[in-house]
Order: sequence, then structure tokens, then C-alpha cells
Amino acid sequence: HEYPSISKLLVVFSVSGGGLVAYAESNPGAQAVIETDAESKRKKVVVLGTGWAGTSFLKNLKHPSYDVQVISPRNYFAFTPLLPSVTCGTVEARSIVEPIRRIIEKKNMDIRFQEAECIRIDAENKKVYCRTNNGFHLHGKEEFVVDYDYLVIAIGARSNTFNIPGVEENCHFLKEVEDAQKIRRSVIDCFERANLSNLSDDERKRILHFVVVGGGPTGVEFAAELYDFINEDLVKLYPRVEELVSITLLEAADHILNMFDKRITEFAESKFRREGIDLKTGSMVVKVSDTEITTKERSGEVSSIPYGMAVWSTGIGTRPVIRDFMKQVGQANRRALATDEWLRVEGTDSVYALGDCATINQRKVMEDIAAIFSKADRDNSGTLTAGEAREVISDICERYPQVELHLKNKKLKDIVDLLKESKGDIQKEAIELNIEEFKAALSQVDSQMKNLPATAQVAAQQGTYLADCFNRMEECEKYPEGPLRFRGSGRHRFRPFRYKHLGQFAPLGGEQTAAQLPGDWVSIGRSSQWLWYSVYASKQVSWRTRMLVVSDWGRRFIFGRDSSRI
Ligand code: FAD
Repeated sequence: HEYPSISKLLVVFSVSGGGLVAYAESNPGAQAVIETDAESKRKKVVVLGTGWAGTSFLKNLKHPSYDVQVISPRNYFAFTPLLPSVTCGTVEARSIVEPIRRIIEKKNMDIRFQEAECIRIDAENKKVYCRTNNGFHLHGKEEFVVDYDYLVIAIGARSNTFNIPGVEENCHFLKEVEDAQKIRRSVIDCFERANLSNLSDDERKRILHFVVVGGGPTGVEFAAELYDFINEDLVKLYPRVEELVSITLLEAADHILNMFDKRITEFAESKFRREGIDLKTGSMVVKVSDTEITTKERSGEVSSIPYGMAVWSTGIGTRPVIRDFMKQVGQANRRALATDEWLRVEGTDSVYALGDCATINQRKVMEDIAAIFSKADRDNSGTLTAGEAREVISDICERYPQVELHLKNKKLKDIVDLLKESKGDIQKEAIELNIEEFKAALSQVDSQMKNLPATAQVAAQQGTYLADCFNRMEECEKYPEGPLRFRGSGRHRFRPFRYKHLGQFAPLGGEQTAAQLPGDWVSIGRSSQWLWYSVYASKQVSWRTRMLVVSDWGRRFIFGRDSSRI
């Protein structure tokens, strides 16, 4: 075994600037120190974040040989797919959160949680700098440093405003539980304000104009929830202003729900139009003031829309701490932290990144594919025999399922289909390939090999995968020669991460949901809504939240949503 050079830690505590600062310094000459304490031999694993990726990692980590520290500014896991339901009180905020300490407690492992945010990662010295939550402590923020042997970065992303003026100050976001709670209060606030007697009708109309920016799954689901909340509950309580309420959905692209099947997009668009939701596609927001949203159409026409409340849901951006870290590790010009297929951050040692804050480097994948080709072209004739071609293709598809997923190129698709059908027994002439032609075809695939989607599904699968690697790390280190995991590029201790797409939902309101399952199986309507209820109930992290969520749904069916502004 090799132990890290930081085998002896000198921990010095001092109080400075009203806060407690802990410094941990390495002793470079400590190689000679003989560790007697089994504790000190345990590898320190620091996990940043308690979202989908971090929690899934923790839940699946079983090997007792790690000293685990979890650092996150929130001491709970939140079931984000139900956040839009929280905005309108269909589900209560506390029903979708589980204390992280309860998750940790169930594990028979040494895991410590600290409620703080990471403000800097020092990969060279293997240290993480942290600060306690803002405004929580009476004496201001406290800072401390934590050492690691392995660092697991799972801090997610933040809402992306594209630096459009006024968005940060005037729009609501829908990313955290607090955001959903604020939106809920704000909707009711608008209705109460519009009911004040001193306002003109124009002013009431403005206040009751709800604008959703972004036609992705979150924006669409929120618009649908809001429509139901208004039409099923609020209009009964605020009959005087019923006629003045309006909802607008702004989307810069030509259609909403772009990542879904065309049938779903069409259904959603026509449903929204029928319901009177003003769907403005090809409309880009360029400025937001406290009362108006300025948009620019494709034609170049600029117009201003008066509004009362706006929710901004246009995708995700990189957190500042990740951006700073990316500069450190030579990834300054990338959009997200690049990892290899084993989720190791490129340019670092012992740092892993998963979930929304990371992306598997596809360029590297393409380079690997090119290398596999070159290797297969043993006689440099420029063509592959049937056997070689089969090896290359099955190697690529085994290692990079995303290639197959995005295989739009007909020629490649035909070859893969042929391979599958023939179970490897192909006629030479049917498959003989010109390498250059094949490479050119693959480079077209490159642009279609988009990054994995930033979803809970990807994050959770990555967490499970990484925990599995950590569980087997010790055993694999004992036998470093390891088995050959796959052909082509040598030996690896672990198989690379593979994403298994299980399908996706788009709740459209009115007890109707669109479901797109693997194999392009599409279902829209009430039956999919019941499928949605059962999947989301079963995916809850604990029986407690499952019971709470199901009882919230029942309560809503019987009594409607609560409109108290608390
Ligand atoms: P997160 O779950 O965001 O977790 C990040 C964690 O890091 C949090 O605990 C946070 O507090 C912590 N953190 C933040 N900053 C720091 C720091 N500096 N130091 C330490 N810790 C930090 N996906 C689906 O698959 N299906 C859906 O239906 C779906 N619906 C969604 C609905 C909404 C409204 C939203 C916002 C997202 C939805 N998603 C859905 C996407 C899904 O939530 C994300 O892809 C997923 O949360 C990513 O997981 P993560 O662990 O990377 O990040």
C-alpha cells in the first residue's frame, strides 16, 4: 500500500476575525513516521454536496475503510423533481426533504457531516476551504480547512442568467426548496395586492400577469402547476380578479420541451394554447426591470411586457467555486468541470466530480475512438476486416454507450444494427470499411454526442457508480495488475461509467403527464399521470417522505391547495 505523503497532520486552531479558523499543515518529511493508529491509516474521503449525486454516493458507500466527511450548506437532501409542486402547495416543502444526518445514521460507517459551503479547493495540497452558512452564527462566518485523500465534488450548479440585466434582481429562480417557497408566497402576494381597492384595473392586470422564462421541463411544469393552482383554487377565492389573470411562457427556441419527442412538444404546445397560456416561442429576453420584461423576436422586433411576477428557468451555470477550481486545473475555457469516464477530474489526482457540476469529456472520448481505429488498422491498409471492424464497433459501443444513443448517422447505425442482428457473425464484404470514411462519419456523431443531460437520473447513477468503485478500491489495489476490463486501451481497475436512460416525464397539468420511455415509447394523458405518481412515490429516499408526499397528494385531491400566505 501507498499512503499519502500527508501522513502526519498538525492541526492548529486559532481564533481570528471573530471566526474560528483551523489550519492543517502537512509534514513533508513524515515518511519515516510509523503509523500505529489504524484510524490514521484510513483514507480521508471528503464529499461536497448533499444533492442527488452526493447522497447517492453516501447511500451506496459500504466499505468501512474510509474516514468520510460530508460538507454542504444544507443539512438535507431535496427531491428536486417535486419542487414545481411545492411552488403551488400541491406538496409541502418538508415532505420532499430528508435530513442528511438521518441518511448517515442508517449507515454503519464513520461519517461526519458539517453544515458549511466549500469556498476553495486546493488540489495541490489536498485541502478544502470551507465557510459556515451565512448569517447562521451570531459571531459571523467561520472558516475552516479540511484535508482529504479523495475528494468527491457533487455541488451541483446554479441558475444561469446569461448576465441579462435585471434577471438576478427581479426574477424568481426555481432551484432550491427556498426558491419554491418564495414563489408560493409571491403568487399569493400578487393575488392579495391585486385585490386592494386603491389600484387601477391596468395595474391589477400587470400584477396578475405571471411570466415563465424558459420552455424546458422545469419551466413547463411550473407553468402547468400555476395554471392548475389558479384555475382550481385561486379563482374561487379571488372571483373579482379572475378575468385579469394571465400566464405567459417565453422560449427563445422555436418549440418548448426540445429534448422530448416531437409528439410531446406538439401536445404540450396545443394544450397550453387551448388553456389560454400565452406561448411565445422564438422570443428572447434581453432585459428585466421591476415591472417590465423586454424581449427581442427573431424579426428583430423589441417589445416590453408588463408583469407582476416572473420565474426564470433557462438552464444551469457553473458555481464560482468550480470556476475557480477549473482555472487551477487548466480547464479555464470549459463550461463545466471535465472528467474522464471514471469520473476523475482531468488534470488532478484523487479528485472526482459528478452530477450537474461535471461533464465527461467527449473530446477525449473521440480521441480514444480514433486511437482504437489506429490500433485496429494493424496492416495500415486503410481498411478493416470484418473481424477488426466488429471489434472496433463493439468496443466503442461497450465503452461509449452515448455513441450508440446519439447514432443518427445512417451508415454507422446500419453497421451497429447489423452487428447486433448477426451476433458477431458477419460477412466480410458486408462490413469492410474504409477507415477514413468511418472516422469522418464518427466525427459527425461527435456533434451529436452531446453531454449527458443535467438530471437527477444521471447524478444518482454516477453517485452509485463511484461508491461501487470506492467499495472495491482496496481489493483492486491489492491486485494492481487486475483483469483486463475491456479491450483496446490496457488495464483499468474499474469499468467506465455507463449511463442507463430510464425515460423522462413532463407533467403538463390537469392530471395529464407526458412520458417518454426508452425505445421512443411515448404516452400522454391520465394513465401516464398515474405512472408519474407511482414512480415519484417509489423514488422517495425514505418511507417518511413517501408517506408525506402521498398524503399531500390525497389532501390536495380532497381539500385543494392552501392559499394562506405564510
Ligand atoms: P444538487 O442536487 O443540486 O446538489 C448540490 C448539493 O451541493 C446541494 O446539497 C447543495 O447544497 C450543495 N452545495 C452547493 N454549493 C456548495 C458548496 N460550495 N460547497 C458544498 N456544497 C455545496 N432531474 C430529473 O432527472 N428529473 C426531474 O424530474 C427533475 N426535475 C427537476 C425540477 C427542478 C425544479 C430542478 C431545479 C431540477 C430538476 N431535475 C430533475 C434536475 C436535478 O435536480 C439535478 O440534475 C440534480 O439535482 C443534480 O444533482 P447534483 O447532486 O449534481 O446537484
